[in-house]
Amino acid sequence: MKENRANILLVEDEENLHEALKLNLEMEGYGVTSAFDGSDALQKIGNEYFDLIIMDIMLPEVDGISVTESVRVNNNEVPILMLSARNSNEDKVLGLKKGADDYLTKPFNLEELLLRVNKLIEKNKKLLEKDSVGEMYQFGDNKIDFKAQDAITWNGQKVELSKKEAMLLKLLIENKNDVVTREKILQVVWGYNVYPTTRTIDNFILSFRKYFEEDSRNPKFFHSVRGVGYKYTD
Ligand code: CA
Repeated sequence: MKENRANILLVEDEENLHEALKLNLEMEGYGVTSAFDGSDALQKIGNEYFDLIIMDIMLPEVDGISVTESVRVNNNEVPILMLSARNSNEDKVLGLKKGADDYLTKPFNLEELLLRVNKLIEKNKKLLEKDSVGEMYQFGDNKIDFKAQDAITWNGQKVELSKKEAMLLKLLIENKNDVVTREKILQVVWGYNVYPTTRTIDNFILSFRKYFEEDSRNPKFFHSVRGVGYKYTD
């Protein structure tokens, strides 16, 4: 598994440009998934996690602006870098209005594109890492040691946590009282573009309840919010 390697969805219907961009992005170490039209892009966005989308505006079937709009309507905050052949200010404004983060007009300088790609990915990473909790965290009579990746639970049991359990706990605790969406959990904890099923995340939450809740049927700390995600409260 290539952890920490950013995954980019490249949506571009001009084959030569597509291949050139793909090759250059891969040489920079990125994983690249290709889409050549708007509906293919939408399908891939629905099935995989991406750290960035490079989106051409003029596409067959569904145009890049409509794809962007649909991504944002679904509360997906993936960074989007828009590409347009037309040097039209209208397109630029509309693209940004519909939720693109950045914009390049063709023909563009490859080095500039790579710099912008890197900047958007790093900015997004920082957003995901903010509000970090410390190494030790206590809630109720439970104590978690994130560094040692273990916990002492309310009934005095010591629990060894897997790396993913520790990461998910940290993510939920850092977002105390806020619902963390399934997409965000996948992005932070799994971090590559293979989707575990919702059931996988549910099983993690069930384990947390088993460890940390005195009454796992009436959880005080770990809550599921049907169809949206999960929430930690204390
Ligand atoms: Ca095009």
